[in-house]
Amino acid sequence: MTTSRQHPPVAPDPRPHLGEPLALDLLNTRWMSADGPRDLLTDVAGLRTWLSENDLAAEPDEPTLHALVTARDAIATTVRALLEQRPPDTAALNAVLDQGRIRRTLTESGPVGEPDVPAAEWLPGWLAADNLLELIATAPGRIRQCAHPACVLYFFDTSKNGTRRWHSMTTCGNRAKATRHYARKTEQAD
Ligand SMILES: [Zn+2]
Repeated sequence: MTTSRQHPPVAPDPRPHLGEPLALDLLNTRWMSADGPRDLLTDVAGLRTWLSENDLAAEPDEPTLHALVTARDAIATTVRALLEQRPPDTAALNAVLDQGRIRRTLTESGPVGEPDVPAAEWLPGWLAADNLLELIATAPGRIRQCAHPACVLYFFDTSKNGTRRWHSMTTCGNRAKATRHYARKTEQAD
């Protein structure tokens, strides 16, 4: 019997918002629930769920979890500076990026670039940090945090005119509309 070496089944992803680019999806491992702040990356089981959700073949273990949370902190600091329109403290993100590089080679079928991250536990965190560079190079102004005051989720605004405000119209957008509606009603009642 080798059951002890088999991975336990992956728990379903409990997060309210999925599908953002990797850097922002990593930030979205923290969210607000009705019971308060939640964090998917508090244990290896949560890490396994995150890796599976993002199709990343990395070892779900403590070193990977630690590296990924370190990368998340660095990405969060950088994005916060970006949103507040101040120059980011680049040291933390660059320390994560130092863990790897894109190795470019010429093959018979043409040039290829592949992530080269010698310390395997850094691969997911490095990929997320590298993805943030890509987003900043593409459209830094479209990296947003949901405008609802009780929501901490991030999204990359791919709408045509770039004026998206909510991580989801059906939850936060409608909540905000309902609050405004209620405020008007109470004013009228006064
Ligand atoms: Zn929201």
